[in-house]
Amino acid sequence: MAQIEVGILGATGMVGQQFIALLATHPWFTVTWLGASQRSEGKAYRDAAAWRLPTPAPEDVSKLVVNQAAPGKAPKLVFSGLDSGVAGEIEGAFANAGHFVISNSKNYRMDAIVPLMIPEVNADHLKLLDAQAAARGWKGRIVTNPNCSTIVLSMALAPLRQFGLETVMVTTLQAISGAGYPGVPSWDILGNVIPFIDGEEEKIESETQKILGTFAGGAVVPHPVVVSATTTRVPVHDGHTESVSVKLAQNVTPEALIDAFNSFRGRPQELKLPSAPPQPLVYLTERNRPQPALDVNRGGGMTVTVGRLRSCPVLDYKFIALGHNTIRGAAGAAILNAELMHREGIL
Ligand code: NAP
Repeated sequence: MAQIEVGILGATGMVGQQFIALLATHPWFTVTWLGASQRSEGKAYRDAAAWRLPTPAPEDVSKLVVNQAAPGKAPKLVFSGLDSGVAGEIEGAFANAGHFVISNSKNYRMDAIVPLMIPEVNADHLKLLDAQAAARGWKGRIVTNPNCSTIVLSMALAPLRQFGLETVMVTTLQAISGAGYPGVPSWDILGNVIPFIDGEEEKIESETQKILGTFAGGAVVPHPVVVSATTTRVPVHDGHTESVSVKLAQNVTPEALIDAFNSFRGRPQELKLPSAPPQPLVYLTERNRPQPALDVNRGGGMTVTVGRLRSCPVLDYKFIALGHNTIRGAAGAAILNAELMHREGIL
């Protein structure tokens, strides 16, 4: 199969690096173009990026020169890990110029004609792309993936929709890699918990409804679930842990819930997409799991682990969910979106 050339916007950042690492051995996509800020422009990637991942940067990408983040010479398919302060304008310019942009940034997520995708949960939301072309007049398209905490939560909630998901209370314990690099100062985070992440709670509360919503009449009808989120930053490298309580319309046994988690599958598993974990949600029975140090890399970082299901005296049930914030929560999620779009004939 001929390789598809891809570009990476924000290639030097935390998410950009994860794109490069994940695409190094990808069976369909090859990185041939990198874009970042003026700080990096014109430098070889190895000199521009402060590489933070445990696997070495791939030799061929290290030699590429970082470009201005402007359309023109980039391949048609572009992954974006741009800072949200600039992503709106730059991603819009790329879509206007005919690129297919798969974005991690918040800027277009809640736009009514932009899919906010988790392929296992809402693959049919790609149908919004027809309306996008008509409304914006872009020659290209924009597809987004959710906020990193929202992805973990929405994946864990998706199999519970069948039981009448009504109310969710979630408290997150989010890793420092979620704040980019260099991110949170060590003085602030070492031996500490920071009970505030700017804008994060609002994202979780609104994005979850769009993701779990249904596609009907050419638009996404948000799911009626009410979500209340509290977000905290903790001194963990990778992996967002979430304490979740849910209220369900139906009476369900714990065994039925665990079975719903473990048997949950979606379009990526059906199509056997390269980045799709065979089992997207895994329920762990040990009473002290999941833990970021032990479970974050399950399924190549694409599996969300769930555990500690027990009854909740306030709502109905409570449990813990964990996912890798820069893989399932960012770069891996975007790559899975592109794989789905390719197999569905959209690219
Ligand atoms: P980061 O480490 O701060 O990287 C930001 C990237 O944006 C860098 O490549 C930077 O290039 C580039 N950039 C900044 N200003 C620019 C400009 N004026 N023009 C062009 N490029 C510019 O951030 P990150 O953690 O990778 O996050 C990237 C995006 O993904 C953000 O929107 C974030 O909210 C989202 N996200 C992050 C995570 C996560 O877990 N980290 C998860 C989900 C979504 P230079 O190096 O040249 O400055």
